[in-house]
Amino acid sequence: MSDAPMIQVEELSKTFGDGFKALVDVDLTIQRGEIFALLGPNGAGKTTLISVICGLVNASRGRVLVDGHDIVRDYRAARSLIGLVPQELTNEAFTTVWDTVSFSRGLFGQPKDPAHIEKVLRSLTLWDKRNSRLLELSGGMKRRVLIAKALSHEPQVLFLDEPTAGVDVELRREMWEVVRGLRDQGVTIILTTHYIEEAEEMADRIGVIRRGEIVLVENTHKLMRKLGSKELTLHLQEPL
Ligand code: ADP
Repeated sequence: MSDAPMIQVEELSKTFGDGFKALVDVDLTIQRGEIFALLGPNGAGKTTLISVICGLVNASRGRVLVDGHDIVRDYRAARSLIGLVPQELTNEAFTTVWDTVSFSRGLFGQPKDPAHIEKVLRSLTLWDKRNSRLLELSGGMKRRVLIAKALSHEPQVLFLDEPTAGVDVELRREMWEVVRGLRDQGVTIILTTHYIEEAEEMADRIGVIRRGEIVLVENTHKLMRKLGSKELTLHLQEPL
């Protein structure tokens, strides 16, 4: 295993075509094995930052290294280490759970490995549902299928974009358990959220992003001791 940090972001900026600065000089290092929560109000730049780190959107300046591999210059090697869990399933309603997850592995050019797919489905308690079509699944199961897809090619770091946006409290707690379980299996986790309690409950460290700038990064316990939920809430209010 290499000594490089799992993710290293250096002086990253993103200006969109209309001149809007979505990311401004972001520096961030994520260590192997941690759960890192990126907390910020809507429009702060969370999804843009994840998209640039994962190589889906090009940066205007700066660079991203994934286990030492540059996401632009060494895209295949870097991307193969990353699993990305989007917010919603796309139109795969009639496909079975098994086919959805094994097809996803194929997209990464990995040889078929039914034993790995079985392991992923079992770890997400989806094994009994492997022959179900996605449209037959509950909301919680659909979210677990998204995670299973992202784990199909055996990534080392998993990005979850607002994993519990719009779900009820019970399902939110279920997702937290799933994510903790993955970390215990050795996967590094980076999640975005605008729920303070989610960041507090899950993360080893919290980074707060506002208007494209990381305004603080701190160990979760230290941050809660220093600021408390109330003051942190102020950071999450939408900028005027
Ligand atoms: P968050 O995930 O924190 O809600 P986003 O990263 O989605 O924030 O968006 C950050 C800002 O960048 C928003 O103001 C959004 O309108 C803007 N933005 C996102 N994508 C584009 C784009 N393709 N062109 C122009 N502006 C964009």
